[in-house]
Amino acid sequence: MKTRKHIAILGSTGSIGQQALEVIESQPDHFVVEVLTANGNADLLIKQAIHFKPNAVVIADEKKYQHVKNLLSKYDIKVFAGNESISQVVQMASIDLVVTAIVGYAGLQSTLSAINAGKQIALANKETLVVAGELVTTLAKEKGVNIYPVDSEHSAIFQCLAGEFHNPIEKIYLTASGGPFRGKDSNFLASVTKEQALKHPNWSMGAKITVDSATLMNKGLEVIEAKWLFGLDPKQIDVVIHPQSIIHSIVQFKDGSMKAQMGLPDMKLPIQYAMAYPHRLASSFPRFNFLDHPQLTFEQPDKKTFRNLSLAFEAMKVAGNMPCIMNAANEEAVSAFLSDKIKFLQISDMVEKCMKKISFINKPSYEDYVATDRETRVIAQEFLS
Ligand code: NDP
Repeated sequence: MKTRKHIAILGSTGSIGQQALEVIESQPDHFVVEVLTANGNADLLIKQAIHFKPNAVVIADEKKYQHVKNLLSKYDIKVFAGNESISQVVQMASIDLVVTAIVGYAGLQSTLSAINAGKQIALANKETLVVAGELVTTLAKEKGVNIYPVDSEHSAIFQCLAGEFHNPIEKIYLTASGGPFRGKDSNFLASVTKEQALKHPNWSMGAKITVDSATLMNKGLEVIEAKWLFGLDPKQIDVVIHPQSIIHSIVQFKDGSMKAQMGLPDMKLPIQYAMAYPHRLASSFPRFNFLDHPQLTFEQPDKKTFRNLSLAFEAMKVAGNMPCIMNAANEEAVSAFLSDKIKFLQISDMVEKCMKKISFINKPSYEDYVATDRETRVIAQEFLS
């Protein structure tokens, strides 16, 4: 690359955001930080801003604006507050690429805004594609925007597709570690705690995605994400449990050949690939050694016990606003589980109830998604009372 890419990181204080900053720091000839945003973690945002000296920062929580502003007053850094500001700042002319690392539905508006402004996207915020995949991908095509996947499974597929432009995909296999409760039955799951759910065997991630990994909803969200990223029919997408998380996903072509992408579980690699595409930059990420992993194993996911995965396949097939309903219900359910308001197995109950209750819309507009998300959260809360 001749010039450095100017990067905006939405959600820089989160797990993906912080790792994206580590990548940028390790590749100073290639990347420079242009914008950082956080929700409420003002102290970390300030620390990051002082270290990376971005052009602008945004704190979504407006109550923290003055604190951030005061502490950054001696630096040449613009400070804004509120979610609307995130959507405006991503359109700054100086930004080349936006890393969307806000968690959940909250990331949709700013992602659409970045695409509208023609910014290239490194997409971590899978919920954006789950909720409004058709809208997002259609807009991206219209604006000539590439969406580079950050999710390790989708990055794997994207890497396997390099050089295969004219060869249609027959099928993809998304691999899943199975999470901390792999092999457990409903009796066991009935009494698991949030502390147990938050202990992922292979990955260290934000709380929401870690619980989603334990319920297999994360894989369900990824199935829908893959549909939109790679233009697939639901029948072309399968999930296989691979507890070691070494093979990150697999593409099968029409001659029966399969390509897989492998590596140690480390999100910095897919983050860097998405930011540097089409280049592979030299890195010091730890290397995989076959002899340390003499066995790579595979099994069927238990969709009966981990019902969220079946619900996600169902939502994908029904389409319309159903994935949006599923996503909002899941966000509310995970949040309720993390605040000890519901038990682990009730997460799927809540998602299923909302999917049955909220009105279906076949061809939703952006406004329909906003209304669906809002309505679902209200209904989900009613289940709690
Ligand atoms: P975290 O919870 O660690 O971080 C979320 C980030 O989003 C934080 O910066 C947070 O700010 C910000 N944020 C949260 N809510 C809002 C809001 N309402 N408005 C504005 N900003 C907000 O999440 P992760 O980094 O784990 O995940 C981010 C996304 O990446 C998710 O969609 C996840 O599915 C996806 N992903 C994550 C992976 C991982 O390894 N972590 C792997 C693959 C995909 P604050 O810190 O101030 O609260």
